[in-house]
Amino acid sequence: MLYTILLAVILFLYGIIIGSFLNVCIYRIPRKENIVTTRSHCMSCGYQLKWYDLIPLFSWLALRGRCRKCKAGISVQYPIVEAANGVLYVIVFLCCGVSVETLLYCLMASALLALSVIDFRTFEIPLGFNVFIAVLGLVRILTDLPDWKEYAIGFFAVSVPLYIIYIVTKGRGIGGGDIKLMAVSGLVLGWECNVLAFLMGCIIGSVIHVLRMRLTKAEHVLAMGPYLSIGIYICALWGTRMISWYVSLYS
Ligand SMILES: [Zn+2]
Repeated sequence: MLYTILLAVILFLYGIIIGSFLNVCIYRIPRKENIVTTRSHCMSCGYQLKWYDLIPLFSWLALRGRCRKCKAGISVQYPIVEAANGVLYVIVFLCCGVSVETLLYCLMASALLALSVIDFRTFEIPLGFNVFIAVLGLVRILTDLPDWKEYAIGFFAVSVPLYIIYIVTKGRGIGGGDIKLMAVSGLVLGWECNVLAFLMGCIIGSVIHVLRMRLTKAEHVLAMGPYLSIGIYICALWGTRMISWYVSLYS
């Protein structure tokens, strides 16, 4: 028990550090800026952040969301992404324990989180994130070779029907990035969980989109990436259990 708590805390701290890196990706990748060489700086006055300004979560809280020098506001998105990444890691760990799955799902959760924020803001999923998840999928197959067909079918099970919709609607029905995302997530999840992830993403997306339109009376463009990502994350962790529960109802 103590061991589990200790590991969870370590994983949370690790998660918020990676979350801090995700913020860099979220800001710079859509602007085509280098994610490694550019030093982090205040967007208002250019003040170069010192190491103690870069401590995830805690720096933002200590400075109460303001630049140390010019006091300009720093977006609450930064600590939220860091904390969210830490929480996502802990949930994965509590579900999968010390395993290959935990490593794969944590890395995938980070990619999903970053691509969700970028898609939400720009309506684009940068290809690099899908390539990254595809690599995780290949690792998944190599660590579970007897079931390789599950993952290979997973690559096509959702993406091919979506691609047909894409062609028929001339790209208005669904985005190319969403199709690629559902292809590579199939490599990680296997086809059954991936189909469930897609259905779940569509349902969550529809509900939230309708609520948002009611509340704001604007914003009619729907970025699917965040909702598909939620579905993928949930089904990576609980998809198999949900499917066997559903099947047991009919047997
Ligand atoms: Zn400043």
